[in-house]
Amino acid sequence: MSLPSSQIAIELRDKLREIVGEAHVSQNDHDRMTYSRDNAPVLNLSYNEGRVGPLPDVIVWPANTEQVAQIVRLANETRTPIVAFGAGSGVCGGVAPLRGGVTVDMKRMKKIVDLDEESLTVTAEAGILGQLLEMELNRRGCTMGHFPSSIYSSTLGGYLAARSAGQLSAKYGKMEDMVMGLEAVLGTGEVLRTPTAPRRPFGPDWNQILIGSEGTLGVITQATCRVRPYPPSRRFLSFLFPTIEAGVEAMRLIMRHDLRPAAVRLYDELDTAIVGTSSKEGESKESVLNALPTSQFGDLLASVLPGGLLPSAIKRVGRFLGQRADLINTLERFTKGCLLVATFEGDDELTQEEATLAQLICEKVGGKDKGPDPAMRWWKNRYHVSYFQSKVFYHGAIVDTIEFACTWRRVPQLYHAVREAVRGLAFIMAHFSHAYLDGCSIYFTFVTSATSIDKTEAAHRAVWDAAVGACHRVGGTLSHHHGIGFTKARFMYDEHGASMGLFQAFKKEMDPNGILNPGKMGLA
Ligand SMILES: Cc1cc2nc3c(=O)[nH]c(=O)nc-3n(C[C@H](O)[C@H](O)[C@H](O)COP(=O)(O)OP(=O)(O)OC[C@H]3O[C@@H](n4cnc5c(N)ncnc54)[C@H](O)[C@@H]3O)c2cc1C
Repeated sequence: MSLPSSQIAIELRDKLREIVGEAHVSQNDHDRMTYSRDNAPVLNLSYNEGRVGPLPDVIVWPANTEQVAQIVRLANETRTPIVAFGAGSGVCGGVAPLRGGVTVDMKRMKKIVDLDEESLTVTAEAGILGQLLEMELNRRGCTMGHFPSSIYSSTLGGYLAARSAGQLSAKYGKMEDMVMGLEAVLGTGEVLRTPTAPRRPFGPDWNQILIGSEGTLGVITQATCRVRPYPPSRRFLSFLFPTIEAGVEAMRLIMRHDLRPAAVRLYDELDTAIVGTSSKEGESKESVLNALPTSQFGDLLASVLPGGLLPSAIKRVGRFLGQRADLINTLERFTKGCLLVATFEGDDELTQEEATLAQLICEKVGGKDKGPDPAMRWWKNRYHVSYFQSKVFYHGAIVDTIEFACTWRRVPQLYHAVREAVRGLAFIMAHFSHAYLDGCSIYFTFVTSATSIDKTEAAHRAVWDAAVGACHRVGGTLSHHHGIGFTKARFMYDEHGASMGLFQAFKKEMDPNGILNPGKMGLA
């Protein structure tokens, strides 16, 4: 396949080479393809079908903040778009170079600059992978407490830029709770450093303005974050509830009683059937659904299709099933109950107390104790989801996830409203996670397909429109932790109204020539 040629001026490329060294500048086709996308399902679908989207003209790998500042200054002078690239695990097209230009891969900037074990803070460069940071912290008796399912393939800078939330966020908080200080290069090339302090009670909080801005206001080069001592003890609970409502009530009461589960997750009936509820390891293999290791439709399809079918036949059956969402959604009739899993970690006595209290709460609202095994199974498989999605695309369908959030009073309403809006359009299931004192997130997984890529894209868009419409009618918010990128940009004005003008004003001030990640987050 031949790609459109790079549009970058030779003079600009040569200056980039002077800044980072010739070995750290690439215009080759493989790199340009690789850096053209992240894990956004629409981009995966296009890629699988051999379509080429917008490409970066050049990719650079800076080694330090000064080099990033020089690159941005040069881009600003020449009005060249700049896209910061962490590890490309984003799911909303955040790194897609919509207007070409320079993609700045941050992964050479991976040093842990300081670990202050007394104050429990770590300062690290933005390009470090989450798993490598965590491993080093563990070696020194600490944990970051940030465990997104993408931990092996995502960076500290990406977490900050996309305001990420890890699976144990109920105990350790999200990136906005962890960050204490930042270093970032603004669109002018100026370096902004925010002071590191437990709290600063005056003026705007620049950390909070920069995080979640997805590379549109600055390139984050370094951050100081809170860490915790590595937990000496961990406990697991699992309960089966007769209804979503009962399970959500248990989650709410656990948080209201000031218990601090590391994770508390409730699966709806369909997701429960797939995750499995058995209290004994052996039993979990009894049904086709329980045999699946994760809540992924690709495996579901794979498991119901007879082996030995020709790939094209499998694709056709996959497409057919994807189109018969109404049929597959009726599977819930054959399911029984909603599984809740919870983990507690930290001091041994405290976790025992917390687990006992949580157990009493679950029993009080009608939960049936399933012992620790289902929760331990979730723990063992908690990152596996990341490796199954490609099967769905192989089967000719598209899988995507939607993570809305709202306050407790509206949680069941939001869940039912979205399922109703989507059930005729896609196979859809959900789990509830990231619990707070005041509410939680609902994470929907949906699968759809049609007879051609254009129709599948249209079907995918229709699901998002229906789901976000339902979410806004109920008073939920359109993203809990995946961010906006370009795929959700069309919903930004609906959700933010007048405050989009303020966002735009910040953009104008921090990136006057609009070179930073243009076309993202609904910014002009
Ligand atoms: C299988 C899977 C599971 C996932 N699970 C979770 C999860 O549990 N929790 C969660 O929060 N997310 C999850 N995600 C989404 C994704 O991993 C997060 O959004 C993550 O924060 C992205 O990090 P990254 O380094 O890959 O960033 P990228 O995808 O490279 O970039 C994301 C955005 O941030 C910008 N950016 C990246 N680095 C910088 C920087 N240094 N300065 C300024 N801007 C920057 C990019 O321009 C882009 O707009 C998951 C994704 C996948 C594919």
